[in-house]
Amino acid sequence: MKKIRELPTILANQIAAGEVVERPASVVKELVENAIDADSTEIDVTIENSGLKLIKVVDDGNGIDKSQVQTAFLRHATSKISEQRDLFRVRTLGFRGEALPSISSVADVTMKTSTGSVGTEVTYKGGKLVSQQASESRKGTTVAVSSLFYNTPARLKYLSSPNTELSKISDIVNRLALSHPEVAFSLISNGRELLRTSGRGDLLQVLGSIYGVKTIAKMQPIKGDDLDIKIGGYVSLPELTRSSRNYISLILNGRFIRNFPLTKAVINGYGSKLMIGRFPIAVITINADPALIDVNVHPTKQEVRISDEPKIGSLISTAIQQMLSDKNLIPDATRDF
Ligand code: ADP
Ligand code: MG
Repeated sequence: MKKIRELPTILANQIAAGEVVERPASVVKELVENAIDADSTEIDVTIENSGLKLIKVVDDGNGIDKSQVQTAFLRHATSKISEQRDLFRVRTLGFRGEALPSISSVADVTMKTSTGSVGTEVTYKGGKLVSQQASESRKGTTVAVSSLFYNTPARLKYLSSPNTELSKISDIVNRLALSHPEVAFSLISNGRELLRTSGRGDLLQVLGSIYGVKTIAKMQPIKGDDLDIKIGGYVSLPELTRSSRNYISLILNGRFIRNFPLTKAVINGYGSKLMIGRFPIAVITINADPALIDVNVHPTKQEVRISDEPKIGSLISTAIQQMLSDKNLIPDATRDF
């Protein structure tokens, strides 16, 4: 029989990376989520060659203390939870302590960080620390990831075309910006600006930056609440539709989620007002007690378990119905009687 032994750290991290770091967009997601969790007010993302050459995320958040920077790159090392019951009241986007060790095991990573006093810069190559030195003291963190997947050729080969990978990055940044209108985002790819938001906390303004002013002219706010659940956001009037469900975004406690029953609830809110095969544009915000939500279902945390899902679904459907019926009561000013 072969001997049983614990895997070397770098190998264990690479295996975890297989789940957390599927493609360049996953790196962008993890780094931006870290920046959001650090209370940043501005997050700037720079991409070169669809993320294969460079992914750089600059934030103005809390930074990491010099003495803790190397710990941040250890597996299951996190500042966001510390005991079992924290798992049932997670308010941050991260908590698994997997992103930095995973990413650094399949790329070259440089992190410059400062809590506002002394700054530190660390460089990792293929999971190994190669240097740590003093750096500028501006509060915040900059992470630059290059040579992504250089040591995992199968992953590199499996990637889609550069355009598809870039559109996945753009999609992720758009959704993170929608989830956090209070943060000013920018996304620049090969020198071209793909997104810029103001950070003024106005969801409709973020929607405008992504979909354009013509689109938001046809979107309406919705509202609903029930004790510990609050529904908000914007949905399109029935005349503005798309041929895919992908334009329905669900944001639960600041986290973008995928959830079929709740997506269905959005569509159901329109009743017979949508043509078959057509779907609305919608951004639905749901705020609920974290105790009702289990986010520890999937490594990327896009799937969550919600204990009051049917109730949330009916609140969403009702809020949309309400908006549409209110809309019908207002006479169309442009109509010639
Ligand atoms: P997680 O986000 O699940 O805690 P990560 O591996 O993504 O795990 O990050 C590890 C730790 O490093 C975080 O818990 C946080 O304390 C710190 N960290 C990572 N990125 C940043 C950042 N941009 N600003 C401040 N702290 C950060
Ligand atoms: Mg994280």
